[in-house]
Amino acid sequence: MYSCYECNEVINGQFTTANGRSFHPQCFKCESCKCNLTNFFTHNGRFLCSNCFSEAALPRCSNCNKVTKIGENYMTVNGKVLHRECFRCEGPCQSPINGRFFSIRSKNVCQNCYSKYGDDFEKFLKKEEPVEPKKEAEIKPMINRVPIYF
Ligand SMILES: [Zn+2]
Ligand SMILES: [Zn+2]
Ligand SMILES: [Zn+2]
Ligand SMILES: [Zn+2]
Repeated sequence: MYSCYECNEVINGQFTTANGRSFHPQCFKCESCKCNLTNFFTHNGRFLCSNCFSEAALPRCSNCNKVTKIGENYMTVNGKVLHRECFRCEGPCQSPINGRFFSIRSKNVCQNCYSKYGDDFEKFLKKEEPVEPKKEAEIKPMINRVPIYF
């Protein structure tokens, strides 16, 4: 006879065992979000569903700050964890990097930008400048002006 680790009632019929403990199938729950566990992960002795395990144990993407989920494509670049799609060129194109890239002053620049702009790529980064209303050009008559020659 087994008794359920969660509710202490005797288990008749189906049960789930995990780490030497027995549970009614409906009592085997994620210890964080309380969802019913089918696949489980253990973290610090707790049974967790894959989402809660990801939240608790997996590294966060340094770009979007979301956790990198199990099975999700992520990579480590210069010690930073990044989703595959969050690994973007920090040069002017800002698009996801596929293939070769260059690390310049701890910024990652795609091959394309690097061959176009070289080490000065930062000068070509789009800055969000406030849009100034265009002034009408002042046109002054050139009368009475003497050209100066050197
Ligand atoms: Zn139970
Ligand atoms: Zn959970
Ligand atoms: Zn990300
Ligand atoms: Zn680029």
